[in-house]
Amino acid sequence: MFDKILIANRGEIALRIQRACREMGIKTVAVHSEADAEAKYVRLADESVCIGPAPSLKSYLHVPAIIAAAEVTDAEAIHPGYGFLSENADFAERVEQSGFVFIGPRPDTIRLMGDKVSAKDAMKEAGVPVVPGSEGALPEDPDEWLRMARDIGYPVIIKAAGGGGGRGMRVVHTEANLIQSVQMTQNEAGAAFNNPVVYMEKYLGNPRHIEIQVLADEHGNAAHLGERDCSMQRRHQKVLEEAPAPGLALALRNKIGERCAEACRKIGYRGAGTFEFLYENGEFFFIEMNTRVQVEHPVTELITGVDIVQETIRIAAGEKLSVKQKEVQFRGHAIECRINAEDPFTFVPSPGRITLYHAAGGPGIRIDSHVYQNYYVPPHYDSMIGKLIAYGATREQAIARMRVALSEMIVEGIKTNIPLHVELMNDAAFIQGGISIHYLEQKLGLKS
Ligand code: ADP
Repeated sequence: MFDKILIANRGEIALRIQRACREMGIKTVAVHSEADAEAKYVRLADESVCIGPAPSLKSYLHVPAIIAAAEVTDAEAIHPGYGFLSENADFAERVEQSGFVFIGPRPDTIRLMGDKVSAKDAMKEAGVPVVPGSEGALPEDPDEWLRMARDIGYPVIIKAAGGGGGRGMRVVHTEANLIQSVQMTQNEAGAAFNNPVVYMEKYLGNPRHIEIQVLADEHGNAAHLGERDCSMQRRHQKVLEEAPAPGLALALRNKIGERCAEACRKIGYRGAGTFEFLYENGEFFFIEMNTRVQVEHPVTELITGVDIVQETIRIAAGEKLSVKQKEVQFRGHAIECRINAEDPFTFVPSPGRITLYHAAGGPGIRIDSHVYQNYYVPPHYDSMIGKLIAYGATREQAIARMRVALSEMIVEGIKTNIPLHVELMNDAAFIQGGISIHYLEQKLGLKS
């Protein structure tokens, strides 16, 4: 096992990885920007290195500074967390070329899955059902686009091969808008992702977002840890997640889960990963794979008892998966509310100092957060300040515990989206379970 790991991230996930390391007796190196010098996980780390000023491009995305920090602290491995450099194949390659272990998949796997067109092709080939659409990238000839869209049937969605974070997508309802929409998406994708390649998919009218968590080691073992339902979204971004997905038949979970595990074996996957699907009328359609630990991993940890972050570390150290598929047991229900520093209904970010803070507690409550009273939420980064997670023997109990926990949470000095979560925990359609990805925007009266 590693002696020392450098954590190339910030915020709650930096603290989460640090906790996993400390529990395993591994020393940690925190890297931080000037804006995060006072962070809790920086103080708790065995060593820390300032890697640059506040803007991410000059710190958390600055590869030479991170590699240099690993060199001076003599770390053996680098954990990228999520976001930032976690799905950057060039970074993973640089880490390995510099003599460190990258805690994640091989660089070529990251590259394959980072391009949504090649990812879809690879998954189709591995027997995973995908959303009907163009065979690969759109060709140059606009007449071909028209023909493809007619074959697929409107509405269609134009998506950037290099897109991510809910950006680089455009829905087209009629033929009259198609050509212009494709060109606009190409231009935006070129500017935003440095890759103008786009593809076309059937736009599913009322799907749920259901994803499968997988773990795979270097010895050819792969297992799935069941599904998460992440349908509560705004602007294609997740607001709350739960596991298992309400109403999903066990046989269906096992079937799609096994397909994903099998795909991992076929492509020689290594580490933790997530297969994202849209689910409609009892069918799964693959949309993309995330080659890293995800924000919502705790709900899976709570219903399976598997520590996903520790697994990523063990796998990177060359160990075998600590669980076999037949040992994975699903028990109870878990819900995660993402707590963001933002206006609960306009979603405008609300950075600043937290003047009063009280964390919820009690049976089945877990809080993954790096904040504390008097913490200053910097304006430079993502607005998520933590995750409130509730576990119960049943979904009803998890919801009841979440309601109590939300009522106990006190975060003053900044605005948070806690009032939105309070409303969602009392929403009839959510309580019933099985809402679609459009539900939240419809409820909020926003155009989806
Ligand atoms: P990103 O990498 O930006 O997260 P995804 O491909 O995972 O992009 O899609 C994000 C979200 O966009 C999905 O959860 C879903 O809400 C919506 N979406 C993507 N593809 C489709 C589709 N074919 N039909 C309907 N909605 C879609």
